[in-house]
Amino acid sequence: MRIVLLGAPGSGKGTQAQKLMADENIPQISTGDMLRAAVAEGTEFGRKAKEIMDAGQLVSDEVVLGIIRDRLAQADVGNGFILDGFPRTEQQAEDLAVLLDEMDQPLDYAILMDVDFDVLMKRLTGRRTCSLTGKLLNVYFSPQSELDECTDAGGELIARADDNEETIGNRLSVYREQTEPVVGYYRTRGNLLEVDADGSIDDVYARLRTAVKA
Ligand code: AMP
Repeated sequence: MRIVLLGAPGSGKGTQAQKLMADENIPQISTGDMLRAAVAEGTEFGRKAKEIMDAGQLVSDEVVLGIIRDRLAQADVGNGFILDGFPRTEQQAEDLAVLLDEMDQPLDYAILMDVDFDVLMKRLTGRRTCSLTGKLLNVYFSPQSELDECTDAGGELIARADDNEETIGNRLSVYREQTEPVVGYYRTRGNLLEVDADGSIDDVYARLRTAVKA
């Protein structure tokens, strides 16, 4: 299965990609996670990327294409992959099509995770990662027992650096202006599936599985 997960920041792409990865045994490839790893390494490139990410803007198409090209050259993508957070511009979508064509690994679907604006805001402002387990949680939506499990074990609930209100506003307008055209790109080519991404993680996942099988 070779898929692209599309959706606004907070639409649940990362969470659903992790579930799909576990069930299908194919890697989740998140450009956001790979960029955050570069930032954590503190390289010159990482420092530049951090400024752009903290402002809620997009890293250049050229840079992310390079990252994706290297990642798709690794052996574990043989059974497929889930692209999460890429492509984010029409140019990236076109570059990806060329790259997959060269690899003879065409995309099966692009899946749009569809969710209302006010739900997105709560998901983003409430999003936390457990410092011990890396588990994704949300202070508004996760059961209290799961939040306590992390803190009782001595972990911290950490918010992403770009999950503050100002950056979130920028990320959502960047999505509208630059990434929504990517939805149109796949719709025109006839391989867009849409999933209602409002609701519990398990309900959304059930809808995603149904869409993928259809
Ligand atoms: P994410 O974790 O997918 O929300 O990505 C976090 C940030 O990383 C974004 O706000 C961008 O600054 C950057 N980023 C991630 N993926 C891309 C991409 N495909 N193109 C450009 N910038 C990206």
